[in-house]
Amino acid sequence: MRTPIVAGNWKMHCTTSEAVELASAIRDALQGHEGAEVVLCPPFTALESVGRAIQGSPLQLGAQDVHWEEQGAHTGEISAPMLRDLGCRYVIVGHSERRTASHDTDESVNRKAGAVIEAGLRPIVCVGETWEQREQKRTAEVVRGQIEGSLRDLGPGLRETVIAYEPVWAIGTGQTASAEQAQAVHELIRESVAALAGSDVAAALRIQYGGSMKPSNAAELMVQPDVDGGLIGGASLDALSFVSIVRGSLP
Ligand code: PEP
Repeated sequence: MRTPIVAGNWKMHCTTSEAVELASAIRDALQGHEGAEVVLCPPFTALESVGRAIQGSPLQLGAQDVHWEEQGAHTGEISAPMLRDLGCRYVIVGHSERRTASHDTDESVNRKAGAVIEAGLRPIVCVGETWEQREQKRTAEVVRGQIEGSLRDLGPGLRETVIAYEPVWAIGTGQTASAEQAQAVHELIRESVAALAGSDVAAALRIQYGGSMKPSNAAELMVQPDVDGGLIGGASLDALSFVSIVRGSLP
């Protein structure tokens, strides 16, 4: 049985005080909640304060990106040991916004995921096709390629890895993948991981859906056999919406 995992990707939102207020509201509303693992991914600037606000609660802290080197002359970058030092447990890598704006490739995503695992943390590796690729019926080829490229040589660390299937056309657009579309790609991801790392690893792997998930569509998506939670953008900035998604994610 896989424990569902719901993560809030706050992107470039929230000053430190706003982040603490949001984290505290989520923490309080989820008191006593059992079921899904819940991860908050505020901007780097709020990691420490949010970490303090959720200390002692079951909520976990996550970062939105990382550099693959441990240290060095990389202005503006942050390493996995630095994130561990702040109390992070998870790190999102390969989000489509980073693949587009910061030119992340499967190769750099693979190096980042490796660095996260090396630091004892868990990567949330994002994959997903564009609308054009879906229209061209290339979804399977694109997602399989991203899985193979991003997860190469992660070894036993794959057991700690979470995959987020985020169709690019569904992110921040209000246009969600249907439950059938999501399930089909999640199943394909699990098969691709089985080919890479064996069926035991694939069976235990948690695969989140991300892309305009909200309280009204979350349960239908999360009830699919290969959907193990969600990576939530916009709706994670509203405590009530996020909490209601988490509550709907019970296995
Ligand atoms: C995301 O950016 O990871 C995401 C899923 O965003 P949204 O929920 O806003 O579509």
